Amino acid sequence: MKDYDILIIGGGMVGATLARALRGQGLRIAMVEAVQADTRAEPGYDDRAIALAQGTRRIFDGLQLWDALDGEATPIHQIHVSDRGHFGFTRMTREEEGLSALGYVVPARVIGRVLGDAVAADEAVDMYCPATLIDVDCGEEMASVSIEQEGVVTTLSARLIVAADGADSPVRKQLGIEAVAADYRQTAIVTNITPQLPHNNIAYERFTDTGPLALLPMSDRRCAVVWTVQTEQAGATMDLPDDEFLARLQERFGFRLGRLQRVGRRQAWPLRLVRAKATAGRRLVLVGNAVHTLHPIAGQGFNLGARDVAVLAEIVVDAVRRGEDPGDADVTDHYAGWREADHRRVTAFTDGLARLFTLPLPAFGPVRGAGMLALDLLPPAKRLLTRLTMGRGDRVPRLARGLPL
Ligand SMILES: Cc1cc2nc3c(=O)[nH]c(=O)nc-3n(C[C@H](O)[C@H](O)[C@H](O)COP(=O)(O)OP(=O)(O)OC[C@H]3O[C@@H](n4cnc5c(N)ncnc54)[C@H](O)[C@@H]3O)c2cc1C
Repeated sequence: MKDYDILIIGGGMVGATLARALRGQGLRIAMVEAVQADTRAEPGYDDRAIALAQGTRRIFDGLQLWDALDGEATPIHQIHVSDRGHFGFTRMTREEEGLSALGYVVPARVIGRVLGDAVAADEAVDMYCPATLIDVDCGEEMASVSIEQEGVVTTLSARLIVAADGADSPVRKQLGIEAVAADYRQTAIVTNITPQLPHNNIAYERFTDTGPLALLPMSDRRCAVVWTVQTEQAGATMDLPDDEFLARLQERFGFRLGRLQRVGRRQAWPLRLVRAKATAGRRLVLVGNAVHTLHPIAGQGFNLGARDVAVLAEIVVDAVRRGEDPGDADVTDHYAGWREADHRRVTAFTDGLARLFTLPLPAFGPVRGAGMLALDLLPPAKRLLTRLTMGRGDRVPRLARGLPL
């Protein structure tokens, strides 16, 4: 049986960010990932985009990875939030915030490649991929997992298990940690478009009769589209010929960017809220989507997961420097306690927005209009939105201040 200090189950964006964060600390780390990612894929029109908050940029700075991402990141200079058919809208600008950008739009492919290269180059990380978790056991003195790789079952032990295995987290389920789950009965249709006019680095969030619609600025004049529709309409919307799809989108978005001219391949993501009832257990912590899977309405999911990583890495490294066991209850409880408020606030904010802005228009339009207006008129509400959007929390871990661990 191979023994490690930290065993990360799931090598998605959050698990891989953690493996990178823990480098150079003398820790023996293993990461188990079921799917061999094709991160070498050539850049294409269809790249999926992720909006990174300023706080996440600082975390990547602290991990010395921002330079590798920067060249392919499109800065957001302004966020424009509006409600179709109503006058209220709110605008956030980088000048108001005194920042060079409110956030950055980066292709998920690029984030995956940069993280993948960084982890592969780190000799302290043993990568098991493609390998699937079969069984997990968290005991008093140590935790262990069985994994299957190419038909061979292997057992690994560790002092701390990190569940970074996504919304359906097999670790969470096998250890009997309950989760509150709600199906929004909405599907995000994700694609890229090219508008007639330049996007001028403005991110648009527009609330429409079918659901929220986001257009994020990307390279080569493209905009990434995340359009939420009722799940029963998703199949028909996915099947529309390109010109009809663009016409429907144009009708919802309007002509702020002129005519929408080109559309790429579409992908459908059914949306749900998953919130684990516990963030930690014996020799176990949960990070990223395994503990909170959010509606993408405010682009918060990965940003919240990156903050999980920044906090966990700091607590683990500090404990190890004091000569303590990184799987000790002091460490896991400290992590759960520190993350509680951020998880609660961002989940409630995102879920509230998703529900408010997907209720039928005639009944709730005025409320939403007032909501938009209130957001502009009431600085504290807008500040909260800005703070969340930019990922500024209460107590900021070192990595999120751009500092090394
Ligand atoms: C349409 C859409 C748009 C989004 N836009 C944004 C955005 O703009 N900004 C933002 O911050 N967030 C955004 N998000 C959210 C973001 O994509 C997620 O929060 C993030 O990808 C979660 O990463 P993760 O590593 O926690 O989970 P995942 O990406 O789900 O990774 C989990 C990993 O665990 C592996 N795994 C699972 N089971 C096993 C097993 N048994 N054995 C081994 N490995 C296993 C999986 O293969 C996977 O690689 C968006 C989400 C959607 C759906």
